[in-house]
Amino acid sequence: MTSPRRTLLVAGGAGFIGSTFVEMAIARGHRVVVLDALTYAGHRESLPVHERCKLVVGNISDASLVSTLLRAEKVDAVVNFAAETHVDRSIDAPGDFIDTNVVGTFRMVQAALDYWRSLPARSAESAAFRYLQVSTDEVYGALGATGKFTEASPISPNSPYAASKAAGDLLVRAWVHTYGLPAITTNCSNNYGPRQNPEKLIPHLTTCALAGKPLPIYGNGRNMRDWIHVEDHCAGIFLALERGTVGRTYCFGGDAERENIDVARQICRILDTLRPRSDGASYATQIQFVADRPGHDWRYAIDDTLAQTELGFTRRYRFEEGLAACVQWYLDHQDWCDLVLAPKEKK
Ligand code: NAD
Repeated sequence: MTSPRRTLLVAGGAGFIGSTFVEMAIARGHRVVVLDALTYAGHRESLPVHERCKLVVGNISDASLVSTLLRAEKVDAVVNFAAETHVDRSIDAPGDFIDTNVVGTFRMVQAALDYWRSLPARSAESAAFRYLQVSTDEVYGALGATGKFTEASPISPNSPYAASKAAGDLLVRAWVHTYGLPAITTNCSNNYGPRQNPEKLIPHLTTCALAGKPLPIYGNGRNMRDWIHVEDHCAGIFLALERGTVGRTYCFGGDAERENIDVARQICRILDTLRPRSDGASYATQIQFVADRPGHDWRYAIDDTLAQTELGFTRRYRFEEGLAACVQWYLDHQDWCDLVLAPKEKK
């Protein structure tokens, strides 16, 4: 991946993180083929309109579609963001998570392996080909009050979402070790930024606040997450593609551990300044504690020293400024929020 212009197959590119990655890939001169099933979480409107960006609506579990695309588009690297991603949904309906995050990943690595094997042996294309699996720190389970996850942390998932992502990661690992697939996995902490589905904490609290609804906080709000701006995460993925060692896993974090209640209060303070309530009260009066999520992980935090030393990974965003810019984005893009909150069939 050292050539400036490559053709990237980006699965799940119409979702939150994928769409930022696509935007950055286009800006870097790459050609992008997005494969996305456009589930409730995927929106063609999230993709840049550009001659080097093509959307193919389809499922990563469709092995023949993936194989055809790899060959027809002469793909240089596959980046797999496609997944079912919401923990609450995984508790209510785990089947979709197994279908996409486990079976879908299996189909993707198998198709990538067949394609890579079809490239001329010892050719530049074969040497440069990469499969990159985008994964989460949730595969490592929960931390106590101290310590951080690293690439060496044991896989110990607690939710159906985390277990399905861990299974996908293990398949990728096995395809590297058994078949030599030139693959890399990245495990990242909680992302925030533009175009995140309003079911997730930061856009959910922002859209509820503006709609005058309660801001629901699970349990006592003391659960802690390490927040990374989506552009910093995607910059890390590019580094892993360009400089990463095949077979390795790289963790990325935001160096910004915050309790959920503190994130909620900060969003309220930002909105109090940017869009004060007409009655003069703070949005914080809308915060309401609700019954905790079953098996709610207590704390996640990432030590990304390996990515810093081996890939040269750095973060551009500090959480406080990044969050203010993110809230401003949701204020400026009410049309996007309305679109993604509308029932899909009506669009
Ligand atoms: P998202 O839910 O916003 O987007 C997922 C995308 O995948 C959507 O566009 C959806 O249409 C597509 N998709 C779902 N099933 C598909 C299928 N079977 N075939 C093709 N496309 C399908 O998710 P996100 O937050 O952008 O997360 C992207 C990836 O990053 C996921 O693998 C997730 O596990 C990982 N991740 C997310 C976070 C986070 O904080 N959001 C943190 C670390 C890792």
